[in-house]
Amino acid sequence: MPPRLQLNALAAFPPLPIVRLRVQFQRRLASSSTPDIYDVVCVGGGPAGLSLLTGLRNSKITSNLKVALVDGQDLQKNRLRKDASLESFSNRCSSLTPASVKNLQEIGAWSHAAQARIQPYQEMQVWDGISGARISFDWDSARPILSPRSPTQPTTIAYMIENINITSTLLSRLEELGGVHIFSSQNVSSIALGTEAPDVDLSSWPVLTLSSGKQLAARLLVGADGANSPVRTFAGIPSRGFDYSRHGLVATLKLAGPGWGGPDHKIAYQRFLPTGPIAMLPLPGNVASLVWSTTPERAAKLKALPESDFVAMVNAGFRLSATDLEFLHTMSSGQEEEVAWREQHTSLDTHTIPQKVTAVQSGTVASFPLKLRHADTYTGERVALVGDAAHTIHPLAGQGLNQGQGDAAALVRTISRAVQTGQDIGSVLALESYNSERYAENNAMLGICDKLHRLYSVESGPVVGLRTWGLKAVDAVGPLKGFFMNRAAGGV
Ligand SMILES: Cc1cc2nc3c(=O)[nH]c(=O)nc-3n(C[C@H](O)[C@H](O)[C@H](O)COP(=O)(O)OP(=O)(O)OC[C@H]3O[C@@H](n4cnc5c(N)ncnc54)[C@H](O)[C@@H]3O)c2cc1C
Repeated sequence: MPPRLQLNALAAFPPLPIVRLRVQFQRRLASSSTPDIYDVVCVGGGPAGLSLLTGLRNSKITSNLKVALVDGQDLQKNRLRKDASLESFSNRCSSLTPASVKNLQEIGAWSHAAQARIQPYQEMQVWDGISGARISFDWDSARPILSPRSPTQPTTIAYMIENINITSTLLSRLEELGGVHIFSSQNVSSIALGTEAPDVDLSSWPVLTLSSGKQLAARLLVGADGANSPVRTFAGIPSRGFDYSRHGLVATLKLAGPGWGGPDHKIAYQRFLPTGPIAMLPLPGNVASLVWSTTPERAAKLKALPESDFVAMVNAGFRLSATDLEFLHTMSSGQEEEVAWREQHTSLDTHTIPQKVTAVQSGTVASFPLKLRHADTYTGERVALVGDAAHTIHPLAGQGLNQGQGDAAALVRTISRAVQTGQDIGSVLALESYNSERYAENNAMLGICDKLHRLYSVESGPVVGLRTWGLKAVDAVGPLKGFFMNRAAGGV
């Protein structure tokens, strides 16, 4: 066992967030009862964990494995209601790349999704909030430069979907496949190595004790348990990074219309402001999802505004100068009138910015602290990490959940190979290909998003000129633009 995975390594990396969860780590199990034995125990029924288990159950090679899912939340309560109205949408939405959708199709899940609640978009408008330099992404204009047109060329950049639609979809597919022992509403209260008994030697196996007292032993323990992953802490895998001192403010917005491209050509907008990007992503009908990365203080003030002033601030975020916004953020009230007055004195090309926000869906304004974290490795003896447990990324490129989908698909491939070649699926050797396949790719994406955040935080000086030139250059050079679009779509 590599040193970093020994339990006593926990001393070097105190499990701070875990203390709050009251998870206790012991070197050996105190209990003498034999735990239930599984090939794979996955902690975390978010998009990454559910996708992994669905992939394992869907594959003929791995469908005989005995698998369990543990989640502290009530997974049934977290499901999308069948009669959910198209008038209201969750504030937690993700932009799913075509590569992620393909994976969901391959594991038989996509057909279970509430399709009427998903919005594909065909164009992206991205611009610099200081210089106004702009880049537009759409396959129709990028493809002819790259290759001759064919009717099979993709036109969709990504699909806006509520996170709850993804998890409901995966749970429905898992139910259809059957065979997963689900421990819902049960927190992991401790993880420890098992004991050596006369009939079974679990001394190298992680054994989980759930809040119900139930014990599960795992040949392979998968941590799909989010950014504060107890599984990662158990394995003693350090996760490095920093907080951005930014919050991602989210809300579900009602717009004046379906968007400038009409209902069949939807456009996503992102403007880079010095405090962070403000993005408006299309949902079905006249609805859009807001992600505004800003300072915690501004996020708190925005959340406290009456609806009319909040709506005015969001409209201002896409329309007014950074200086105007700076002033508006200092106002304690009256933003609606101030924005209306300032807009009259601002020249705008309305078709390059989103349609006006007219209202905000009640109860959807919320914010989340943004951070960058990356685990030193995704695998250890009898442990693998997927999704946010392995990496947490700035949402500016909408990649976090997509990375988790890529991890899940890769881990299914790795486990399948181990099963086919008769290896122990929990051994570091069998898991290594998963780590090498995913680590470098995720690391590159974390780096790109972090650099973009830093580049656009600069308000003046030569950096602004350089990034303006860079944006214009990429916009003008078709193949370069195609490369970025391919990457954003989850391709290579
Ligand atoms: C503002 C914002 C916007 C975003 N936009 C996008 C986007 O457009 N596109 C995109 O790809 N990504 C986006 N992301 C990122 C995306 O939301 C996350 O990457 C994704 O939800 C992580 O999924 P996961 O399954 O890895 O973890 P989670 O969804 O965090 O799931 C972890 C699960 O583990 C369970 N759990 C944790 N601890 C325990 C325990 N002790 N016992 C039992 N269960 C436990 C939890 O209950 C939870 O169900 C965004 C993030 C933010 C903050």
